[in-house]
This record gives sequence, C-alpha cells and structure tokens, in this order.
Amino acid sequence: MSSSDDRPIAFLDLAAQQERIGPVLRQRLDAVLAHCRFVMGPEVTELEGRLAEWAGARECVGVSSGTDALQIVMMAEGIGRGDAVFLPAFTYTATAEVPLVLGATPVFVDVDPQTFQIDPEHLRSRIQAVRAAGKLRPRAIVGVDLFGQPAPWPELRRIAEQENLFLMADCAQSFGAELAGKPLGCEATATTLSFFPSKPLGGYGDGGAILTDDPERAAIYRSLRTHGEGTTRYEVLRTGMNGRLDTLQAAVLLAKLDFFKQELARRDAIAAQYDAGLGGHVQVPARVADSRSAWAIYAILVGSAEEREHLQARLKDKGVPSAIYYPLPLHKQPAYRDHHDGAVLPVSDDLAQRILALPIHPELTDQDVARVIAAVKG
Ligand SMILES: *Cc1c(COP(=O)(O)O)cnc(C)c1O
Repeated sequence: MSSSDDRPIAFLDLAAQQERIGPVLRQRLDAVLAHCRFVMGPEVTELEGRLAEWAGARECVGVSSGTDALQIVMMAEGIGRGDAVFLPAFTYTATAEVPLVLGATPVFVDVDPQTFQIDPEHLRSRIQAVRAAGKLRPRAIVGVDLFGQPAPWPELRRIAEQENLFLMADCAQSFGAELAGKPLGCEATATTLSFFPSKPLGGYGDGGAILTDDPERAAIYRSLRTHGEGTTRYEVLRTGMNGRLDTLQAAVLLAKLDFFKQELARRDAIAAQYDAGLGGHVQVPARVADSRSAWAIYAILVGSAEEREHLQARLKDKGVPSAIYYPLPLHKQPAYRDHHDGAVLPVSDDLAQRILALPIHPELTDQDVARVIAAVKG
C-alpha cells in the first residue's frame, strides 16, 4: 500500500473547496472590500434574488443564521407563552431551542424509522393529546428536512390545514434538495435556511435566510431582522433583533452558488457509490419517495450501539472520519427533558443508538469513497 492510501480523509474539506472555487471567491470578496458596505450591501440583495429564483419563492430574506431565521418566523407569528410547537425529536437542537427562547413549548414527535423524517401519524396523535390535556394551545408545526431529504410535506400540509396550525419548514440541512421535481423552499408558509459552513450551501461563518411566497410576511421578517424598524430607520414598529446577513457572507455564498449544482450532483454520485458498496452490509439511507437529496449527511444504521462503537474505532484507525447525528434525541437532552411531557419516542431513541454518518462532500475522490466503503466492510 502506498502512503497516500493511509492519508486521513476529511469529514468536510473547506480548504480543498476554497482552492477549487478560489478565483470566483476572491473576485466576490474583493468587490465587497472595494465598496465597504459591510452591512446590507448589494450582495445581500443579489443573493436573496438568486435564492428566491432557485427555490421558486416570491421572497427571500437574508438573516444572521438558521437559528435566527427560525426565531424571526416564530416572532412574526407571535408564538410565545402557552403555545405548543410540534417538531421532531430527532433533529438539531436549534429547532427546539427557538420556541423555548420565545416562551413556547416544544412538543416532540417521533420520526419514521426508514427515512428519519417526522412521522405524520405520530404528529396527529401528539396534536390530539395536547388538545385533550388542555394546557397548551397548538400553534405551529416545524417540519425539518433532515439530512438533505424532504419532510413528508403533503401530509404535513394536510394536518396543518385540518388542525389550523402554522406550518414552517426548517430546511437548514436541505437547500438544494427536490421533491416531486421541484426545489425545496415552498413547501410551507415559511422556509428557513442555514449557511453554517458544514451545510451543503455553507458560508464562511454564520448566515441564514427565510423563503416565503407571502410578501406581507416577508416585510415583517425584514423589519424584525433590523430591530423592528418601520419605513424610516428610527421608527420602531415592533420588538425585533439584530438578525441581518453579513455582506461578506453573501459574497461567499454568491461565489459558492456558481458551483452548487455541480456539487449537489457530486454528492448524489457519492451516495450512489456508498449504496452500491455498502447495501447488504449495513442499512443504507432510505430515499424519500419522488425526491432528490441534498446529501447534507449520509447516515447508515448498524445493529447496536456496541457495533457502532467498534465500527467508529476501526474507521478511525484507517483514517476514515465518521460522526453521530444525533447521539441524544432532543426529548432526552438535559436542557429540554423537563419540558417534555413524557411521551415515549422509541424510533428517535433507537436511531440515536445505531446511526452513523460517513463523509459526503464534493471534494471526496472516487478513491476516497472506495476507501470508506472498504473500511466500513472491515
Ligand atoms: C444547522 C441547523 C440549524 C441552525 O442553523 P444555524 O445557522 O447554525 O443557526 C437549525 N436546524 C437544523 C435542522 C440544522 O441542521
């Protein structure tokens, strides 16, 4: 074996990406350094236009992070004390954190054992249980497009309509994905994006955006991201926040957007190679029907927590990184368990024990992918 066969593989390789996109990136950054409009510069508006166009949404509002995007959307709906916000237990912490920050209560819903997306049947029963208990007012559903795949949007829309609940999409991991031949971004009343560096479309720092077809809501989001300002700068219409997207981040994202289609195709090809190499050895990710994943995360399932521990150690020995998303479902987190009503969420509990993410990013070579497959097979 040559020494290059033992070279550690990166879980995420922003340096290699930077080399590949360097000239476009530098041109974009130089333009910002030349005009010095670091807050709400022209790149922010340009990016908003490009993202809206990509998603087929009427409006896009650039904000400071995916978390702040969730917060601005919930603030605009007036979500707060006494409100129940239904969301999956198997997601990143931010989805549950925001309702709590606003004084509302997250109601954790279990997920589908195949696709890992929120389980619509369980969602229905959780809404009924909250109504029956009579303590909280059901207000909103947050559908999370987990790992790059879409949540079950047709079912979520039906439930939101029947139950008269606000429907929002936490698409932090899945911008670039498609459902029924259409890009994600318009499945709910508002869709939030994150540009954290490790997301499929990532900046060089924090950033986010909100997509919506509703111009009135978009105007409120724009006001909220700038301290609740009105038509003049020093008129304060509502309690807002400092939630703007940096011009420099917008410039980075504009550069990266030029390569995004290619990168999504590369991620998809890597996923297909993993499927072919690993199917039968471990449980490879099930696809949501009629969709295309953005492949934020390629997660396999192994037989048990012990098996996963051994596999991770073996991979590490062979220079192959892996990661656990998520080692603890949110209803079991120290910060959230006291807010949980005690419902049992067996699928989320089980996934946390057995799930393992393999590297999937556009800089992986076919040789890297073959090495990951060989290492998993042992
Ligand atoms: C990353 C992420 C967020 C938060 O985005 P930030 O930009 O890091 O604030 C929210 N929800 C999900 C599902 C995420 O993966």
